[in-house]
Amino acid sequence: MENCLFCKFAKEHPAKVYEDELFYIIKDIEPKAPLHYLAIPKRHYKYITEMTNEDIQNFGKIVNKVGEISINILHLDGGYRLVINQGDNAGQTVPHLHIHILGGKKMDWNPA
Ligand code: AMP
Ligand code: ZN
Repeated sequence: MENCLFCKFAKEHPAKVYEDELFYIIKDIEPKAPLHYLAIPKRHYKYITEMTNEDIQNFGKIVNKVGEISINILHLDGGYRLVINQGDNAGQTVPHLHIHILGGKKMDWNPA
């Protein structure tokens, strides 16, 4: 998709923490936790509800891999939180679906 930051990053981001054929991981530029990464599918879609059947299958693989990487590469052994913001009320600012990986401290549970 033209003019999409995360589609552009798929091709040219210089500091990917991880990459395979389905997705890549980068550090968030404005961290909301001591450790904050973004796992970004290479296919462009904004909402979970836009997924094709193939996207749905691939998303399972992506989430599973994110779990492995969170422990083995990002060393979030103490625990981590995965977040997907969907739409304005959730604060989605980049219209290309991505999974926030948050960790590095004991987190509160209060999105309000
Ligand atoms: P969301 O608000 O859920 O759409 O998440 C978008 C995330 O992308 C935010 O946490 C931003 O800090 C992050 N972000 C925006 N621009 C960049 C960038 N150039 N590099 C890395 N992360 C970015
Ligand atoms: Zn995109």
